[in-house]
Amino acid sequence: MNYFQRKDAHSITCLLCQHYCTLKENAHGICGINYNKENTLVNTTYGHPSAINIDPIEKKPLYHFLPATQSLSIGTVGCNFRCPFCQNYTISQTATVNEQITYTPKNIVALAQKYKTKSISYTYNEPTIWYPYAKDIGTLAKESGIKNIFVSSGYESKEVLEDMPSWLDAINVDLKSFSHEYYKKVLKTNLDGVKESLELLAQSPIWLEITTLIIPDVNDSDAELHAMAEFIATKIGVETPWHLSAFYPNYKMQDTPSTSLKTLQRAKEIAQSHGIKYIYIGNILNDTSTYCEKCGTRLIHREGYKTQVENLKGNHCKVCNNFVAGVFS
Ligand code: SF4
Repeated sequence: MNYFQRKDAHSITCLLCQHYCTLKENAHGICGINYNKENTLVNTTYGHPSAINIDPIEKKPLYHFLPATQSLSIGTVGCNFRCPFCQNYTISQTATVNEQITYTPKNIVALAQKYKTKSISYTYNEPTIWYPYAKDIGTLAKESGIKNIFVSSGYESKEVLEDMPSWLDAINVDLKSFSHEYYKKVLKTNLDGVKESLELLAQSPIWLEITTLIIPDVNDSDAELHAMAEFIATKIGVETPWHLSAFYPNYKMQDTPSTSLKTLQRAKEIAQSHGIKYIYIGNILNDTSTYCEKCGTRLIHREGYKTQVENLKGNHCKVCNNFVAGVFS
């Protein structure tokens, strides 16, 4: 795909996310890391990760994609969102690149091979804004049988969304709220755009899970939770796992209280009332195992980040043979 389009003699349009920034010569986009150099799009983070870790895949979170495996996880700097609750704001809300740290796509894949991870995750900050680097790594990884995972806010451009299935295997998308105003005024993006991405991803071969950080008095009203659950159930699919994650005071939201387990359980009940099958409460002590929706057998046992696949045979419950959606082998 083309990552940018020439607009006129002195400006280009970046095609990496739905902001579609028009960039005059030497101007940077909203993310701070893509800019126009001699009428070409240059990504300042290409080859310069800000973080590399080996994480359990459950930390992404992905619960129905290669459970109990490790994922080489990398991030860069910059972001196209402005979330006041960002857990990684020290890297996402800066555009300062440490050029001393250099990893070519080949280096990253070699690391995954060295540590025998089944996948590489593009995470920590929004990977859409460094799509050219992620795709170059991912294309090489795919050739070596390593899977590729995005952890994203779902603001990919239409062009990126169309390109992703050629190399990407799974994605976790944050649905941060169901308020148009909140997306626009606080997050500085657009709810409809994220909803459209989710609908396109649900129809693609990419395995999709959704995460919502439940924040007291921000997105935890019954009405908003019902609206989100109805959207997921009717437009995305009741088989799509939905992670309801607990908020803790952070970054610009130090005065907002943590989410109680009671609130998360209420959100889970609302999701269940819409027929969503796999709902997981996260970021707080509680049972996160996967159970067969038909016979109740525990299929995948999770305790913290310790995971054991117990009663699954391929995509079926070992006890009653019921189908379980996901990618398990
Ligand atoms: S990635 Fe998005 S925010 Fe960054 S320059 Fe491109 S269109 Fe703008």
